[in-house]
This record gives sequence, structure tokens and C-alpha cells, in this order.
Amino acid sequence: MYSKIKMLLFKKNLRNYFCRIINRINLFLNFKNNSKIQLRVLIIHSTDNKNELVKLLSHLNKKWSFITPDQFFKFMESKQNLKKPSLLITFDDGFKNNLNVIPILKRFSISALFFVCPGLVELQSSNLLFPLLAKKSFGISPTKRDIELLNWDDLRFIQKQGHSIGNHSSFHYQLNKLNREQLIEDINLSKRLLEKNLTYNQSFESFSYPFGGVKHINLLCLSFLSRNFKYIFSGIRGDNNNRNKSKMIFRDAVSINDHLEITDSFLMGGFDFYYRFQLLKIIF
Ligand SMILES: [Zn+2]
Repeated sequence: MYSKIKMLLFKKNLRNYFCRIINRINLFLNFKNNSKIQLRVLIIHSTDNKNELVKLLSHLNKKWSFITPDQFFKFMESKQNLKKPSLLITFDDGFKNNLNVIPILKRFSISALFFVCPGLVELQSSNLLFPLLAKKSFGISPTKRDIELLNWDDLRFIQKQGHSIGNHSSFHYQLNKLNREQLIEDINLSKRLLEKNLTYNQSFESFSYPFGGVKHINLLCLSFLSRNFKYIFSGIRGDNNNRNKSKMIFRDAVSINDHLEITDSFLMGGFDFYYRFQLLKIIF
């Protein structure tokens, strides 16, 4: 047990050390290339530590301009020149503790985009079905407390607070494991449920890919999704400025418990080269 903890701490320290080195290299390179203005998208999953979230947003607020989902879509369509480094904040999965962040977002005047799974929201009242589905979908222990999600009333409240809701598939299945019929059924249901229960916003036409890594994405899913949605938000890191007509949006997953220097290294693009290389795997 003791050696296991020691090993975990060693790995964490090693990761921190590595990220800091990449960050220093990046700082040096960006020093020579100040003209590049980035448009990045952040994904935050768990929001149970409010103090850390405030710390993270205060830090980001110094360098980045937070943009609304509507401003993001407008920019992607018009490709006007960005004046400042800009950041869109997104939350995936629709966990109940997302409600905690609403007052914090207000404090920073942030309008965020919440991607939710309408099928799971709908089935949440089923004590039998929901724990089984949620376990399969998120791969976690099927106790209701662990996986409490936002309900439709919560989502309507979030919309009223000036935030947007997007589609994260009906049940958060790994889409590349579904056959064509299952994929069509899942996506059609998710669209119907969002339209039936919430006020339309243009983020309904955006889809956040469940899991979102390169190994979860295949060309069949991508081509189907791109016929059904305007934008597909991935979990692949990168800058979204200066990209021609791309439907796939790059996003940076951050943990609110990470050292801020690690978050900086992600957002400065310190790891983008690795993800561009990974992207080739979808095609080949
Ligand atoms: Zn997810």
C-alpha cells in the first residue's frame, strides 16, 4: 500500500516536472512569435472543488478573454481577426455538481457551453435502469450518488442564466463501437429530447464526442455526425484559430486540481504537436 502511494506521487511529480519543462520551452518559443493569437476551448469535467475553480479562472482571466458560445460560432463562421487570445469554457457530461459553478461563472461574466446526454437525463428517475446505464456509459461505480446528473429543470435554469446547452449523445456510449443503426438511433433520440425539453439555442447544433480521444473517433462516426451537426467538439488539443472550414473543434481538458503551470503549458500549445501526429491515426 505504502509503495503504491509512493509510486503514484512519483508519477505525479514526474508529470509536473515534464509539463513545466515543456512550458518553459514554449515560453521561449512564443517570445519569438508574439503575433499568434489563439482561440482555444477548455473542457472541465468535475467541478466539486469551488476554490480551485476560482483560482483557475482568476489565473486564466489575466491572459485570456472569455468568449460566449455565440461569439465562438460567429467567429468560426466569419473568420474575422481575433484581437485577443480567446477562450470558450465547456463542461461535459452534465454532472449535478455543475450547478455549483453557475455563481462562479457569473462572477467572471462567463457564458459557458454545457454538453449533456439527453437520454441519461431522461432516464435518471429510473432506479433500475439508470445505474446500469450510467455505469456502462461513464465506466464508474453504479451508485446513484456518484453519478447524479443535472435534470431538465436544472438545465432550463442554466439556460436562463445565459449559458448554452449542447449535445453529448443520448447515452454516452463509445460511438465507434456502435453499428450504423445504433448510432442513428442514439443521435436522433438525443436531438428530439433536447428540442422537446429545452429552449432552442444554436449550440444544439454542436456535438461533443463522448470520450473524445483519437482512439474513440472513426471516419464512419465523423461523417455521420458532420451531416447532423455544425461542429463536433473533440478531446483533441489544439488552437482553433486559422483553421479552414473545419467542423472538428479542438479542446483542452484541464483538471482544476492541476498546477496552473501545467494548464498554461496545455493552453500555450506545448502538447499540440503530439495531438496533430495522433490525428493522422483517424485517417490511416
Ligand atoms: Zn463525456
